[in-house]
Amino acid sequence: MIIVMKPDATESEIQNIIKIIEENGLKPHISRGKERVIIGAIGDEAVIRNIPFDSYPGVENAVPILKPYKIVSREFKKDSTAIKVDDHEIGSDRIAIIAGPCAIENREITLETALKVKEGGANFFRGGAYKPRTSPYSFQGLGEEGLKILYEAKQKTGLPIVTELMDPRDAELVCEYADIIQIGARNMQNFRLLLEVGKIDKPVILKRGLSSTINELLMSAEYIASQGNTKIILCERGIRTFETATRNTLDLSAVPLLKKLTHLPVIVDPSHGTGHWDLVIPMSVAAIACGADGLMIEVHPHPEKALSDGSQSLKPEKFSILMEKVKAVAEVVGRII
Ligand code: PEP
Ligand code: MN
Repeated sequence: MIIVMKPDATESEIQNIIKIIEENGLKPHISRGKERVIIGAIGDEAVIRNIPFDSYPGVENAVPILKPYKIVSREFKKDSTAIKVDDHEIGSDRIAIIAGPCAIENREITLETALKVKEGGANFFRGGAYKPRTSPYSFQGLGEEGLKILYEAKQKTGLPIVTELMDPRDAELVCEYADIIQIGARNMQNFRLLLEVGKIDKPVILKRGLSSTINELLMSAEYIASQGNTKIILCERGIRTFETATRNTLDLSAVPLLKKLTHLPVIVDPSHGTGHWDLVIPMSVAAIACGADGLMIEVHPHPEKALSDGSQSLKPEKFSILMEKVKAVAEVVGRII
């Protein structure tokens, strides 16, 4: 249920509604806009369905939300959410470009890549210090040492850092270094982890699970939002289908659909979405054309030697070409980079 207060509703009228919600065992989510206050009643709506909220003083109207996700829904918040990170914003007119290697392998390659992607025009530097690998014998990431290298890359380039958090036990440590926390596809339904990042005051990139529906992705975002953190960026990174010619099937229709269903920013990762470096530029261009708020691109100076995801990584020169093409399309769709 969403309770929309009148523009001139007093604080005690607002508090009265909050009290009723709490007395019925639901959680109030208060959104204080420029003009009015909107209160979401989060929980089992059946309990309050018969309360005539619109006859209470200060209330303009009360609308039931039929969707299973509430705080992240467009019904709850009509205006698109823009998330500020340092001097950048994700979800506004500006397209956000996140680039970097799949994994932090060592200091030299990381710093070289960071400087090159910065030169190419990236706004954020990415790299995994904790890697969710399919095989336990594959390179698992450098852990804390990797986080320290990321921090050095930030100091050298000024680019904010995006890195993955896999385990709630590492949350404090990862948060010391990360500007944006990434929740990987394999952890999209790790609900304990989602609840944990929901309590952290940092933006989160939530990647769509390998076999997850749009509805499931939004429910996972709702898990995070339910704990107070609404700085969530959704990421389409391809889903598993019968097709094996590509690593995943990049579901670009998810972009305009998500933009309709949620106010949260939506970015696209064509690197994991296709698995092939030569498909990354065309799919990046397509992603911006269909309304994505940003891109996540894997870049490695020597993809043939990369410890993970070399086949889908762009060389820095190719990344610069990607930026030029994406800029041209951004202009056509009224966005800026
Ligand atoms: C990654 O970004 O390197 C990654 C592991 O992505 P995903 O979780 O989408 O597979
Ligand atoms: Mn990767």
